[in-house]
Amino acid sequence: MDDPRETPTCVIPGCPQPVGAWGQPCPACLDAFGTHLRLSDSAPLTREQIADRDAYVERAYYTQRRTVGVRR
Ligand SMILES: [Zn+2]
Repeated sequence: MDDPRETPTCVIPGCPQPVGAWGQPCPACLDAFGTHLRLSDSAPLTREQIADRDAYVERAYYTQRRTVGVRR
């Protein structure tokens, strides 16, 4: 069975839609963000770059889930 982490997913943070290659947005994000998404001269983000970019947000969500219900 293929590892689902190997399947390229949309480059937009939080979007899990599969795409053809790492660093590409999915059609739904292209529709949703329209002209706010622009091509750049830089190379598309790699899987590792996307994971690095999103790591702090995932840690923040993890911490938030662990502290929900904690009263001070
Ligand atoms: Zn997307």
